Parts: sequence; structure tokens; C-alpha cells
Amino acid sequence: MDTERVMRQFETLGYHVTHDAARPQGAIAVINTCGFIGQAKEESIEMILRFCQRKQQGRLKRLYVMGCLSQRYLEELKLEIPEVDRFYGKFDFDQLVQDVAHDALWRESPERHQTTPRHYAYLKIGEGCNRTCSYCAIPIITGKYKSRPVDEILTEARWLVSQGVRELQLVAQDLTGYGYDLYQTSKLAELVQRLSDVPGVDWIRLHYAYPAAFPYDLLPVMRERDNVCKYLDIALQHISDHMLQLMRRNVDKRSTYELITRLREEVPGICLRTTLMVGHPGETEEDFQELLQFVRDIRFDRMGAFAYSDEENTYANRHYRDDIPEEVKQQRLDRLMMEQQRISADLNQARVGSIQRIIVDRKEGDYYVGRTQYDSPEVDLETLVKTSKRLHTGQFYDVRITSAEEFDLYGELV
Ligand code: SF4
Repeated sequence: MDTERVMRQFETLGYHVTHDAARPQGAIAVINTCGFIGQAKEESIEMILRFCQRKQQGRLKRLYVMGCLSQRYLEELKLEIPEVDRFYGKFDFDQLVQDVAHDALWRESPERHQTTPRHYAYLKIGEGCNRTCSYCAIPIITGKYKSRPVDEILTEARWLVSQGVRELQLVAQDLTGYGYDLYQTSKLAELVQRLSDVPGVDWIRLHYAYPAAFPYDLLPVMRERDNVCKYLDIALQHISDHMLQLMRRNVDKRSTYELITRLREEVPGICLRTTLMVGHPGETEEDFQELLQFVRDIRFDRMGAFAYSDEENTYANRHYRDDIPEEVKQQRLDRLMMEQQRISADLNQARVGSIQRIIVDRKEGDYYVGRTQYDSPEVDLETLVKTSKRLHTGQFYDVRITSAEEFDLYGELV
């Protein structure tokens, strides 16, 4: 979204803007970097070096770098990669736009250049995080939680709808914390309700809730509003009390199980996506077994998992020894993912025969490719439909699911 906004600002200023990481060319290139985990850092650096090469070949005139990596390693990057004209942090887009175009429209306009298909868009409701998870560098990079005002988000949502968006992906590092800094109370339920009242919003999807102090007033809104997807992305990371304490998550096993029970009781049919971590310092085989059992008990609809990576200046980096050998981390990750694959296969199979409403994202070969309300773009299942009828991207259709594979469902028009 930050990329999209900056692109839109440049367009507003009369620039022709394209999004092309593979073959950058033109007068100016801006790279938005990520610096949260090792792999993303490497990819960002590789991309900067590739762009530097294009600049040296005369295919680019100016090169700017912004985003999390640049925020975190500003001084080092300036020294190491002098070919870059200027580095910016995560929050000084104004300066970037001013420097390039001698004007800044950033604050006044909700407009942006969408890089997603026209019918869905990511809508950021806050930035930063006040939590203290031991392994996480995000609060170091982004700082304290800053909620965006409700009215500002509504204005942006209306503008997105006017551009053809029908599905809003609400995102924040911590959705659960929304509102406290501005309104001294949780505002997530009210925000979702008001967004669901915006004419033209067909689906609202929630990404990245936090399990502690969960705003339960959100659940009736999710249950009762047809345009709020029965879908929640909530990163739980672990389940053993020993690990949750070491990870500084401020939740325990009992309250996590209670939370999940309540989510499922109060929003029947809710699809739960979670993220788990293995190999955090101190994780014993018993802790890992508890995690495995948790996955078996809960049968998450979707699950992603990561092996712990030691990130500079995090609490874990300063206070713990990265004591789990890499091969053990990898083995645990594989065992956890295999367990989930089995569960996902069962759950996908259980959808066969059901009738689902899908939104069509694109056409690919003979198939129209869409998603149900239980599937977020890029990370979840796609539903493939073969039909002689002409379907339209961004439109909704009812399909009967006829078969299921690991990452795809197949369906026919009803
Ligand atoms: S809640 Fe998420 S973003 Fe915040 S510190 Fe924990 S892991 Fe990082």
C-alpha cells in the first residue's frame, strides 16, 4: 500500500508510473524495501544492486530507496551502496515526493495507484505496534502504534470503491490494537461496521489480529454483516505456556483455546488463518509436541509457519542464545507443515459438493480463477471454474465445488 500511495502521488504530479521489479527503466526508480526477516532483507538488497546496475548502464537516471530496510540500516546502506541517490525511511514519503517533484500531496489525498487487480485493495488502518514479542523487529522499525482516524479510512474506502474496488483487505501489524491511541478505546468493531455500511463494499477481510485483549464486540459485526467475510487472520505463534512466556506474547494456552472456542461459537463457519513459529530459543521437544497437538486439536483452516530467525536488536537477540540448531528448526517446521497438509486436505475435501459464492480474479487458460469469502488473495485457495459462459473479473458468481486439490478447488457454475 505504501508503494501504491507513492505511485499515485507521482501520477498526480503528472508522472507516468509503472510497477516493474524485473526490468526497471525510465527516469526515476523507487524501491520499497522490507527488512523484517533475513530472506526479505536479502531480496531487497539484491534488488537494489540490480537497479544500481541498470543505473550504471544508463537505463535509469535516479534511484531512490525507501521502506523498512532503509529505515533500519540507513547509515550502513548509505555507505555500502553509494550508487543510490538517496535513502528514505519508512515514514518520510513526503520528503521523497518533495525531493523528486518539489511538491507533496501525500497527506491531502487518499488516492493511490493500485498494484492489485482493480476489484480488491489493501487498506491500512494503523501502523506500528506496541507489543513486545521477543523475536520481532517490527516495533523497532515502525515505532509505536498509530491508528489512522476512522473518517480518513472511510474516505479512502469510498475512493477505492469509486475506482472499482469491491473487496477491502483491512491490514495492520496489529488489528486488535486499533483505536486505543486515538480514542482511548478499541474501535475495530465500529470501524468494520462503518466500512460495511459504505455502498459498494461487497467484502471486508481482516488480516493480523492479536490474541491478547481481543475486541469481542467485533464478533457480532462479523456474524451479522453479510459483507464482512467470515475470515480472521490471527497469528498465534505458539501454544506452550513456556514458549508463550519466552516469546513475551502476554497470552497463555488456556486463554488461547478459549479465544478460539469463542470465535467459532460466535461466528459460525469462521475460517481461521494463523501463523506459528518453531525453533524460538528455549523451545524443547515437549514444547514442540504441544504445538503439534494444538494444530491437531484446532484444525486451522489455513496455517503458515516459520523457523525462528535471530533479528538484530530484538529482545530475543539481546537476551537469549539462538540455541536450536538449524536442522532441528527445519525438521520441526517440516513436521508441523506435514500435519497441516493432512488437515487442509481433509478440510478442502469437505468443501466438495457445497455451493460457494466466488469473486473472479482473472482468466487463466481455460479457467476462470476466483476465491470464496474464506480465501484471501495470494495466500489461500483459488477456485477454478471452466465454463462456456463469459465471466467478468471482479464479479461474483455462485459455483458448486466439484473437486479439491491441495491449493485449488474446482467448481462449476450453478
Ligand atoms: S504483535 Fe506482531 S508486529 Fe507486534 S511485536 Fe508481535 S509479532 Fe511483531
